Amino acid sequence: MSNTAAAIITIGDELLIGQVTDTNSGWIAQRMNELGIDVLRRVAVGDEKNAIINALDAELKDASIVIITGGLGPTADDITKPLLNEYFGGKLVISEPVLAHLKELFSRRNRPFLERNMKQAEVPDVCTVLFNKMGTAPGMWFDKDGKVIVSLPGVPFEMMHIMQVEVLPRLKERFTSEPIIHRSVITAGEGESFIAERISDIEAALPARIKLAYLPGAGMVRLRLTGRGGGVESLVKDLELYQHQIAERLANVVIATEDIPLEQILGRWFMANGATLGMAESCTGGYLSHHITQVKGSSEYFKGSIVCYSNEIKEKILGVKKTTIEEYGAVSEETVTEMARAAIGVLDVDYSYAVTGIMSEGGESDRLEIGTVWMAVADKTNVVAKKFWFPYDRARNKEMAVSMGMLMIWKFINKQL
Ligand code: ATP
Ligand code: MG
Repeated sequence: MSNTAAAIITIGDELLIGQVTDTNSGWIAQRMNELGIDVLRRVAVGDEKNAIINALDAELKDASIVIITGGLGPTADDITKPLLNEYFGGKLVISEPVLAHLKELFSRRNRPFLERNMKQAEVPDVCTVLFNKMGTAPGMWFDKDGKVIVSLPGVPFEMMHIMQVEVLPRLKERFTSEPIIHRSVITAGEGESFIAERISDIEAALPARIKLAYLPGAGMVRLRLTGRGGGVESLVKDLELYQHQIAERLANVVIATEDIPLEQILGRWFMANGATLGMAESCTGGYLSHHITQVKGSSEYFKGSIVCYSNEIKEKILGVKKTTIEEYGAVSEETVTEMARAAIGVLDVDYSYAVTGIMSEGGESDRLEIGTVWMAVADKTNVVAKKFWFPYDRARNKEMAVSMGMLMIWKFINKQL
């Protein structure tokens, strides 16, 4: 089976100096994968004419689809559009729908419409215009010698929107290769080598068209089955058979059989159980609440968080006893336990989570090692506290605290703590 191959070119000097991290090509690669299109290469080039042309020439040799992002804006460094126009031998013409959309955008923002902006409504007459509802620069679709070249804005959410609405449906219709299908089992609390040991016989029995990957994360291991070929229907059946076998074998550590983030798994539980959640966050500064509220519909169960960074707020707002903090310290089992208990009452919730820790020098770092974090989860009658230690820098330690915090909530509500 020969598969359609794609290449992705991301354009922008800022990518080469590392000022912007290229997230576009990773996202596009995932979408290609879902369509069963192999990605041959991901290339980043600067805002430089020859560099872009060379990249395009090179990729068109091997790939039948080239997706380009970046350099479509109205500033002088944005050269992709005139360059592609020349490359495909076109003429720049005003696109009336794009012009109307731009004028409306500008008037809604109360901004004057400049000559420079007029240029944004220009498109090569040799392309299919991909309308950009989310921004100013439209995308462009070129056909050449049976190959497809797509140019999209660099701004990630604009790129994603045009991909989803305009590009993916067209690619799907045109390149009907067999899709790559995934099924997942998400586990928590056991290391990948132990898991591999427990399911080694299942893994050995996998047919050639199904591969198993272990993707370890903070406190969790995602097991991903990837299948391709042999007809979609029978493939899905096979994938789900093995997914089921793995989930059954690992039942005591499985937290989901879908590749969704932990905050969403928690959200489903709280929604299904009609229970409410509140928090008292010290060292994570509200970051855990941020994750919880990333989930659509979280207002149904999440009441709020007290970001009690200082001892004063821990005492005044939350009602932690001054003597507790004085006697045991702000980062201690006693304090975190009081925080979680107090949050139940102050926020009037069924479940609460509390966290307090030392992320860098200062505070109680003379008494405790940096990276020490105490967490507690409570309901109206019980509270469980746990001590963690994270060895990374401040940012990563916060990430770890958030992941382990969500995991701790999950374990508590599932009576595994
Ligand atoms: P605009 O019309 O908004 O100027 P554009 O097509 O000109 O869009 P660029 O100027 O290349 O796009 O990039 C706009 C912004 O999009 C950049 O400042 C950067 O933050 C982001 N961006 C660009 N390329 C990428 C990429 N490959 N991955 C992630 N973000 C990107
Ligand atoms: Mg730009």
